[in-house]
Amino acid sequence: MRLGLGPLISDKEKTMREKDPNVLRKCAMCEKEKPETEYAWKKKSKEKLKSKCSECLKQYHKEHYKKNKEKYALRAKKYYQENKDAVDKKSKEWRDNNKEKIAAYAKRYYENNKESYKKQKKQYREKNKERYKKYAKQYYENNKEWLSEYKKQWHENNKEHVYAHRKKKREEDPAFNLRLLVSSSIHHALKRVDGKKAGESVLDMLPYSIEQLRNHIESQFEAGMSWDNHGDWHIDHIYPHSKLPYDSMSHPNFKIAWDLRNLRPLWATENLSKGNRILPEAERILEQIKKDIE
Ligand SMILES: [Zn+2]
Repeated sequence: MRLGLGPLISDKEKTMREKDPNVLRKCAMCEKEKPETEYAWKKKSKEKLKSKCSECLKQYHKEHYKKNKEKYALRAKKYYQENKDAVDKKSKEWRDNNKEKIAAYAKRYYENNKESYKKQKKQYREKNKERYKKYAKQYYENNKEWLSEYKKQWHENNKEHVYAHRKKKREEDPAFNLRLLVSSSIHHALKRVDGKKAGESVLDMLPYSIEQLRNHIESQFEAGMSWDNHGDWHIDHIYPHSKLPYDSMSHPNFKIAWDLRNLRPLWATENLSKGNRILPEAERILEQIKKDIE
């Protein structure tokens, strides 16, 4: 409430009339009878009201803009080209004066559109899968020596930490422990050329021989893969091994994880970038295997 603070309205404004909610006007567009308050003034002088109601006008402008979008864009472009320096200066000034406002707006916009951003990113990744794959492989090829040296060095420098972490995890997580044991047994068996040794009990639990496994992997080799550079590529569990915990080798997850259909060779870089993500093809394979072993 303002008391005794002097006039809020200028003298000129005092002479203007106010809109009367009881007076009806016919809109030139929708032709409905609407109170004056639903019309805007034609000019600041508040003498005449616009012929279209505000609702229609809004719609009208919207449609007009839509229809003439290109024309407006062109006009804006032309204006910008002709006044580039002035526009840039003004826009920089505005940005400098409204930094916080812009940051807040960007943050709010991101929050409101987070989901669609994520979806877009995912779609883009899917669409450009092959390109990414090629790029990652190329990068790996170009930086192979350096990367492997770096990895070795890092491992050397963090050996104790890595072992301690792994030991702790093995103790706390029996499924992790078993997963590691099974993997290493199978990898050892694959490398071994001569008869029986450690890991036999694991191999006994598999519904195929180590030769069959070797053939299965080999038949999917990509150009450049061989048993000599195993390490540059990994045996990949299409449905992630870590997402199939088992507490014994008679657990169904063991059968699924090590089903031949779930195994393929994959370049190390791709395997690392895939991480624990479950790809759509993995879901399909999981369904297939589940159906067969039930
Ligand atoms: Zn109207």
